[in-house]
Amino acid sequence: MNFENLKKTDSICYDLVQEEIERQETSLELIPSECIASLSTIEALWSPFTNKYSEWYPKKRYYAGCDVVDKVENLAIERAKKAYNVEHVNVQPYSWSPANMAVYTAVCEPWDTVMWLKLTEGWHLTHWWKASATSKFFNIVQYWLKEDWYIDLEEVENLALKHKPKLIWVWATAYSREFPFKEFSIIAEKIGAYLVADIAHISGLVIAWVHTSPVSFVDIITTTTHKTLRWPRWWMIMVTKKWLQKDKDLAKKIDSAVFPWLQWWPHNHQTLAIAVALWEALKPEFIQSNKQIVKNAKTLAKQLQKLGIKIISWWTDNHLVLADIWRWKGIFMHEACEIAGISLNKNTIPNDPASPFYPSWIRMWTPILTMRWMKEEEIKKAANFVWRIYNLVKHFEFSENKEIRLKNLKEFREFIKDNITLQEIKKEVKELCLKFSIYKNHDYKSKK
Ligand SMILES: *Cc1c(COP(=O)(O)O)cnc(C)c1O
Repeated sequence: MNFENLKKTDSICYDLVQEEIERQETSLELIPSECIASLSTIEALWSPFTNKYSEWYPKKRYYAGCDVVDKVENLAIERAKKAYNVEHVNVQPYSWSPANMAVYTAVCEPWDTVMWLKLTEGWHLTHWWKASATSKFFNIVQYWLKEDWYIDLEEVENLALKHKPKLIWVWATAYSREFPFKEFSIIAEKIGAYLVADIAHISGLVIAWVHTSPVSFVDIITTTTHKTLRWPRWWMIMVTKKWLQKDKDLAKKIDSAVFPWLQWWPHNHQTLAIAVALWEALKPEFIQSNKQIVKNAKTLAKQLQKLGIKIISWWTDNHLVLADIWRWKGIFMHEACEIAGISLNKNTIPNDPASPFYPSWIRMWTPILTMRWMKEEEIKKAANFVWRIYNLVKHFEFSENKEIRLKNLKEFREFIKDNITLQEIKKEVKELCLKFSIYKNHDYKSKK
């Protein structure tokens, strides 16, 4: 695979591709929720399926010439059913926002009550009741975490009994513990609520059986395809046997919510890429790699803890490591690490005393490092880089007063801009990364 045609027709865009490849090759991506799509899926993405219109579903298309596209979509669906052991799959949602809305459209009426984890405790912005359209159409009840950072199941039950939500979501983007699908299902059954697991983060772990599958506990499963699944960016909505036993029409309701309610034309090159990716996910290497992702996350948590960084919930059950960087200071780590070629992200903590713009946590994960074949030794090196940066920035003041805070931030940015230690770390990061090249062994990078 190369970019010869692009190089000939548009050297500016060609150079940007090279620049991004270089960035990915030489920096340490600890940032959730990024992964590396396999080259076969990337080839699928630029296949001529992008030329085809194919509205509606296989065998029901409005446009002519959809025979091959039908085969592709059916293949993706069959493979997904096998990988997740579900009864029905919709592979058309473009991203989370429409997938999320499709679930509501299928099972809720306007102003129904829905329940989810409070955003600041690790949920997603589409579930932030003021910043998302969902709050305009639904009545929101939020549950939260206990002091030990586990989901407060007692509170979930109290809130569920009190507010009788029509739908309960389970999952988060910043939760490093095993998700209690079974406990949620007992609560949902008590009030007859639909239970939906958004497994965006742990999707790969679920296929590899390093996280409990929600399949026998929930009605609907939604997932990204580009996180631990390491596929190109996309979404799927899946329906379990449990749901179909309740209402056999609900699979149809999901399908009509996606098309024609919320979306129209499927992106067929994406569907092909998903089919390819599902094929790869059914192989032993994929399972092995997801096991290693969790192993590496545990090594990262252990090493950071050993170096004196406070790990949220003291451990991790999955692929995420969350660290408490004191009040307001997540942003210092975020920005200093970026200069040293390390990506991680700032995140709010439950009951964060700071604002979402200057939160107190940092969030890291290990999938990309694992996909580059990094193991214990390299993970420890990564932890040491983070620790060195932490020592560099931890003494910086960050005031609660807004005006002083802006001044603090300005001083901090001056300090990190050409900081020698950060530049040294950057060099070491690059050295390590080049030993574990993402693309070198492929002809992905065409010669300039
Ligand atoms: C990442 C994530 C999303 C958002 O997915 P996008 O496709 O990036 O919009 C939604 N929900 C959860 C739980 C996630 O982790």
